Amino acid sequence: MSNHEVRQGGLGVWAPSKVPRIGVDLTDEQKMAIAFRHLADIGFAENMAGHITWQPEGRSDMYVNPWGLWWAELTASDICVVDQNAHVVSGRWDVTPAIHIHTEIHRHRPDARVVIHNHPYYVSLIAALGVLPELVHQTGALFLDDMYLVEKYDGEVDTPWRAAELAEQIGPANLVVLANHGVIAMGHDVASAVYRAVSIDRVCRLAYDVMLTGRTPSQMNRGDMVGMQASLIERAADVYWAGAARMTIKADPTVLH
Ligand SMILES: [Zn+2]
Repeated sequence: MSNHEVRQGGLGVWAPSKVPRIGVDLTDEQKMAIAFRHLADIGFAENMAGHITWQPEGRSDMYVNPWGLWWAELTASDICVVDQNAHVVSGRWDVTPAIHIHTEIHRHRPDARVVIHNHPYYVSLIAALGVLPELVHQTGALFLDDMYLVEKYDGEVDTPWRAAELAEQIGPANLVVLANHGVIAMGHDVASAVYRAVSIDRVCRLAYDVMLTGRTPSQMNRGDMVGMQASLIERAADVYWAGAARMTIKADPTVLH
């Protein structure tokens, strides 16, 4: 095979005959709570900063975390619902105006039903350099041609017009690095958005450590990365999510309350 050929990947190449399941039926709010807990567990969340929103297919309102609770302590009953203009529709807590990043992305990107934003350490480190991470490991193939850098930090994104400007410029990318701020990871469902969020901090950590060596990293063949990208998103995201849910529930079943 020449270097220019695109290698196939994903479910078209291999589909598992058996897949480990979560084992319980989860409500939408329970899925949200598990996503928060898991991302906190792996160090993605800067304590109570950031949001996850989920606007299920065909709906204009969206689930979101309330102001003031840490991602690590959220339970299903803490999850709020806001309308497309960020007004709280239901829930026992309040929601910060910084939620406009999410409402405007949902407005501009109907494919991205789940939007995750926070300031994970290694993405924040790369974001402080004002660059996108170099993709130097096969997991990085997940982000091939799917990252966008917002180069200028201009304060808290707490108004609809600021957020609309941001949402317009990111185009179709599912991963956005915000210079001097953090990251936005998106997906059509909870599993794919969580998988991108989990993976980007590791990708940035590896890219940073490679920079520290001062050596020139070995380059991956682009055609191989295309196949790997399909395999990661079609095959790995769902099973990753199921495992994360099993372990999160096992660690503290009250996450479902
Ligand atoms: Zn932020």
